[in-house]
Amino acid sequence: MFKKNHFKGIASICVIGTILISLVAAQPNLGIAKSANEEIYKGKTPKYVFMFIGDGMSYAQISSAEMYLGEKSMPGKLTPEQLSFTKFPVHGSLMTQDSSSFIPDSASTATSLASGHKTLSGVINMDETKTHEYKPITEDLKAKGYKIGIITSVPITHATPAAYYAKVANRNDAYEIGKQLAASGFDYFGGGDFDQKTGPEGTDQPIYDIVEEAGYTIANTKEEIQALNNRSGKVVAIDPDDYETALDYEIDREPGELALADYVKKGIDVLNNNKGFFMMVEGGKIDWANHANDAAASIYDTVAFDDSVKVALDFYNAHPKDTLILVTADHECGGMTIGYSLTGYSTHFEKLQPVTMSYQEFDKISKLYKGTNPANPKLEDLSANIKEAYGLDLATLTPYEASLLNNAFAKFMSADTKPANDQESVLYGTYNPLSVTLSHIMNNRAGLSFTTYSHTGVPVPIYAVGTGSELFDGYYDNTKVYYKLASITQSSQAK
Ligand SMILES: [Zn+2]
Repeated sequence: MFKKNHFKGIASICVIGTILISLVAAQPNLGIAKSANEEIYKGKTPKYVFMFIGDGMSYAQISSAEMYLGEKSMPGKLTPEQLSFTKFPVHGSLMTQDSSSFIPDSASTATSLASGHKTLSGVINMDETKTHEYKPITEDLKAKGYKIGIITSVPITHATPAAYYAKVANRNDAYEIGKQLAASGFDYFGGGDFDQKTGPEGTDQPIYDIVEEAGYTIANTKEEIQALNNRSGKVVAIDPDDYETALDYEIDREPGELALADYVKKGIDVLNNNKGFFMMVEGGKIDWANHANDAAASIYDTVAFDDSVKVALDFYNAHPKDTLILVTADHECGGMTIGYSLTGYSTHFEKLQPVTMSYQEFDKISKLYKGTNPANPKLEDLSANIKEAYGLDLATLTPYEASLLNNAFAKFMSADTKPANDQESVLYGTYNPLSVTLSHIMNNRAGLSFTTYSHTGVPVPIYAVGTGSELFDGYYDNTKVYYKLASITQSSQAK
């Protein structure tokens, strides 16, 4: 009896001891830091940091690109062809809500990634009262001797790139953002052009003059851009083939035109030095394609984004102990998903292969047609153009598809194409009713669909490889990306 109790007692002590030991031991693994914003990193600091942000890119955007590529190279095998970054050894997920909504915008989310704070939608590196400024990590890294590069496929003054060099209460103040770019002293800006080049009213000093007065060289021909190197000084490389101040959609890019990956390659040429560099690269048109519910354009731009990651990966392979690459997103866009009511459990990615242009290019064609003021407009008048752009033969339309497309055509040809009611808002958003309906038909035939023309509140992935990458696993708030990076690079962790 005594013995039995004695053993019970020892057993209890052992059990309690084991629980205590495992609790203590488990704490660091659970990432329970001393304070929510504190990250502890004792490893080596990388000299070269790449931060890739696929704007509007979550799992469906990534997986649809991988499935599309897999279907193309191995038809019928149901094997995704992985993008380079989904093979990275570390993978986490980020919560993206901001101070305005569970459905955030790029200004607030890029602020969270760049400076570690939540703020209102539309606000860049300022607090919710729009009075207190936050310092993006690039300022600390620059002070530590890193060169700084900022690249995007959309305007360089757009919200995501701006969060890495500017502080403004309103993301639409592009001229002010441009002036802050000039004052930043950062080393390389590449990709899309400035918005509001002569101010919001068109009456201010040209932004190129301000940028040049600040000591920057503006390179805006392919030859000038290709000639840039690490003796070029501070440079702004502006895409010579831009359309509305952004790079073309990848699906529309002509051979020989610079791609996002070319701006990353050039960025390495310009920034490479023995103190290191930080480069932020935004795939901004993934977001724009998803706003427009254009799955083919989203897939092409996601692949172009991956091509730009591959450039960094080559650099990493040459400097594996000194390089960190992060690939993440600011938020999801479009509510894209893989699955559609009428295709059930099947997908048909091969049906997107004949698509040859973005909705934006097709809009130019359809507007030319509308501009001729045809006396008796008919959808059939555009049948050859639709076949060329989407690979869609009007004779194959189901009665349901035909009714959607005929209604969209009538709306497109009407005097006012803005949505007149909720039904039209659901069907077309604020897009060209004809092209957005063609996109929907192609998406749905492929087994894809969208829920919105805006962003959504679903989480986004983060992938990491290289020195310090181990900190990025888990499921956490997007502000933590800043604190982890600040810890890894020993930059100040402003609270
Ligand atoms: Zn967006």
